Amino acid sequence: MTEKVGVLGKKASQRSQRTDVERVVVTPLPTVYGEFRAYGYLDHERGDEQVALVHGEPGAEGVLTRLHSECLTGDAFGSEHCECGAQLATALRQVADAGSGVVVYLRGHEGRGIGLLGKLRAMALQAEGLDTVEANLALGLPVDARDYGVAARILDDLGVRSVRLMSNNPRKREALVRHGIQVAEQVPLLIPPCESNITYLRTKRERLDHHLPHLDAVAHVSS
Ligand SMILES: [Zn+2]
Repeated sequence: MTEKVGVLGKKASQRSQRTDVERVVVTPLPTVYGEFRAYGYLDHERGDEQVALVHGEPGAEGVLTRLHSECLTGDAFGSEHCECGAQLATALRQVADAGSGVVVYLRGHEGRGIGLLGKLRAMALQAEGLDTVEANLALGLPVDARDYGVAARILDDLGVRSVRLMSNNPRKREALVRHGIQVAEQVPLLIPPCESNITYLRTKRERLDHHLPHLDAVAHVSS
């Protein structure tokens, strides 16, 4: 048996007792936001390839952290249906500006865990007037099927014990705590709404308990 040895020269089993999520590689990743290191992981349980971007030397406590749920349409295409793309860019910029931090990019989280095609089908129903919660339910799909266990294991592997979590979603905080990562602070990640996403954002606030106080200032968004 050969054991996989990462570029840091350590055996995966020496880094974490929870070896179902294995660190496979670390590589420098220069970005428009600053210099990051990309940590690549393989989740043996689900078969997902995961990546965490680390800037600077975050340490163990109070690490500025974003758990970003994969959103192809928002992150890559600049979709204004949701605010994911702007949230990802803002999180990377804030981590770089802070001098250190972590952005965990969670694969398998499309459409709050219903997959890319499920999300596109839900978007088609939203174009017909359903809200994001009703659309998932109309398709017989869960409203939120995301699991944050892998994110906690990645943070554990990185030596992070407590985070300042960039999120408006109280369920992310609760999930991390449940998986053994402390949340010292929840840092709002508020993106100014646009005409295309104001209804979606209001639904997230009213039906999914997201903290989005900045929506109060937006009575009507005109084009
Ligand atoms: Zn999105």
